[in-house]
Amino acid sequence: MAFQLSEKLKNMVPYEPISGSYDVRLDANESFLELSDDLKSELGDVLQRISLNRYPDPLAAEVCERFAAYYGVDPDLVTAGNGSDELLNIICNAFLEPGNKLLTVLPDFSMYAFYAGLSGAETVTLKKDADLQIDVDGLIETARREQVSCVMFSNPCNPTGQGLKREQVRRILKELDCLVVLDEAYMDFYTESLLDEAGDHDNLIILRTCSKAIGLAGLRLGFAVANRTLSNVLRAVKSPYNVNTVSQAFGAVVLSHREEEQKALAQILESRDALYGALSRMQEKAGCFERVYPTVTNFVLVKTDRAQEIFEKLKTRSVVVRFMGGYLRITAGSPAENKRLLDALCDILELERTVLA
Ligand code: PMP
Repeated sequence: MAFQLSEKLKNMVPYEPISGSYDVRLDANESFLELSDDLKSELGDVLQRISLNRYPDPLAAEVCERFAAYYGVDPDLVTAGNGSDELLNIICNAFLEPGNKLLTVLPDFSMYAFYAGLSGAETVTLKKDADLQIDVDGLIETARREQVSCVMFSNPCNPTGQGLKREQVRRILKELDCLVVLDEAYMDFYTESLLDEAGDHDNLIILRTCSKAIGLAGLRLGFAVANRTLSNVLRAVKSPYNVNTVSQAFGAVVLSHREEEQKALAQILESRDALYGALSRMQEKAGCFERVYPTVTNFVLVKTDRAQEIFEKLKTRSVVVRFMGGYLRITAGSPAENKRLLDALCDILELERTVLA
């Protein structure tokens, strides 16, 4: 008999970000800032000293230590991954089995359900309300009723830009005894991290990434922070050399430059506020959108019936944002990129530029 793909694999397609080349990319929530010339030249020196003929450190000790020092956590509780995406895959592989259930909220980062599905687990989904907030009581109740093995959500959330308070997340942890994976990919832009208490919970894994505020999406570097037992599991089940030597060494350097990183963060927040302000004015003065959601991340979510049309027309002007059904998710770009986007929106919606001011 001929080889057959399993049902699970039959309809899978490779992940495809928007193809083609565009002048302004505001679709992937990356940092718009390049590393400084000084930092790049330091990385050049590091590259000279690296031995690429040798395997990397399996535990990525140095970069984990730098991460731990940067965020004030115990380095023993930190595990590095090839982006936090890899860590999500590792977690699903390790903790979910066929017949298990994962609870996610909707909308949230789509990879949670994807990796759970690969592990053969079923995904149970709880919809958010009109304000796109997580109903914490509903989440606790659903997790218990459905007897899920794991709850996974992002805080703050991609794609909504909304954030839960620390106290709300603590309540979820206290009320549930299943594994809770708290994805803090965008927490550098917000102030409600649970990192400093990660080691105190026996059912919590926190994920962080260098792809957003730290500006290293191309390096592929993420971290899981959890108590010793859970950290040991992650280290035991990951592939031995999951983070390459260059990512480890470059990550260690960049995470040692706290001041530079804080300066970059301030610039991103300034740009995010400017973008949110201009989009809100477009909504208030000209009613062009149904809703512009306040945000605690580096992107703004806009609700509009014309999302698809606007998305397509922006593309023809070489500006790309993320189209998500009746929503557009727009990453904060540089001031020049924001201007290009906002001017293009004015053209598409036939508005005077004065609406932006
Ligand atoms: N979690 C969330 C919520 C994200 O938005 C992303 C990136 N889009 C990731 C995880 C993955 O980040 P990375 O693999 O680049 O660390």
